[in-house]
Amino acid sequence: MNSEAMRQGLKTFFGHTTFRPGQMEIMQYVIRKENALGILATGGGKSLCYQLPALLMPHMTVVVSPLISLMADQVRQLRSRGIRGVEYINSSLSMQEHNWKLNQVRQGNVKILYVSPEKLQQESFMKQLATMKVSLFVVDEAHCISQWGHDFRTDYQRLSQHIERLGSPPVLALTATATAEVQNDICRQLAIPGSNIVLQSVNRENICFDVQYVADEQAKAGAMLEKIKRLQGPGLVYFRSRNAAERACETARQENVPRCAYYHGGMPAEERLLLQQQFLNGELDIIFATNAFGMGIDKPDIRFVIHYHLPPDMESYLQEVGRIGRNGERDMRACFLLQMTACCLDS
Ligand code: ADP
Ligand code: MG
Repeated sequence: MNSEAMRQGLKTFFGHTTFRPGQMEIMQYVIRKENALGILATGGGKSLCYQLPALLMPHMTVVVSPLISLMADQVRQLRSRGIRGVEYINSSLSMQEHNWKLNQVRQGNVKILYVSPEKLQQESFMKQLATMKVSLFVVDEAHCISQWGHDFRTDYQRLSQHIERLGSPPVLALTATATAEVQNDICRQLAIPGSNIVLQSVNRENICFDVQYVADEQAKAGAMLEKIKRLQGPGLVYFRSRNAAERACETARQENVPRCAYYHGGMPAEERLLLQQQFLNGELDIIFATNAFGMGIDKPDIRFVIHYHLPPDMESYLQEVGRIGRNGERDMRACFLLQMTACCLDS
């Protein structure tokens, strides 16, 4: 496996002609069988950094991914490209499906296996997996490892033990989160040398960022409505509270904004799943949401994100606006609505 084989594979497997910034640099470490951490913006093309080498390496690649919907999505996308030998195993499977897939793994028919971190925790599963040869171990959304990350997951902390059980294959960690604390945690826990970090700019050139100042709450609500009527969907409006998201949706409906809905963590799981599906299928154009909405949403044509409230931190902000314009289309919009405080008005 070398750079030339990668270039060739990019074309034959994925139909792309050029690498995105950072992809080749990250894969260089994989080629050399060194542990590495790749930090690319959301939508920057992290998946390809392991999928392409995985297809060229002799044995199986194991990918740890935090969300069931993310795994199913990735497997679906690869299959739609005609790529065979990709499976996922997590708690959503029936016993029958689970056993069938595990059998596929044991027979060596699986090239890329997505697993949930919980699954690796199961001794019976791990025992079987440990009999297989593993070429590469991938930790997607690796910020989940860090207590400083925005969605810390305790089962991500045992990964180093699992990697050892799988014969210590090279490790590739990927995330869009670039704070120093998170980087340190990832590198420490996965034995990645500090020099093996590829950090690309998180700037997204197809997104136009704007801030609109408003005098009070009423003006803010008005500005939001005006924006969603003017901007072309699909789009997302983020709020800090569930109530605010519901209220805004009500107002929008009263104003005859079509095909909109609200989404937050207080809603039943089935209802949330249904909304996600409707949005992904293009049956809904606008979602008024809290930060519960988003992880695992890989919708290429989201045209705008409006922040009605400030997100809790910079990392959340980057994740949220990173969902815009993944298809590379130009002139996508990220808008901030900011209420002017007395001090702003004075100056
Ligand atoms: P993320 O970094 O958020 O995980 P993905 O891996 O999901 O991003 O990739 C985002 C989009 O970019 C996908 O639709 C993918 O097909 C596309 N993509 C990735 N690499 C390339 C490339 N080299 N050329 C063109 N499109 C690419
Ligand atoms: Mg990703």
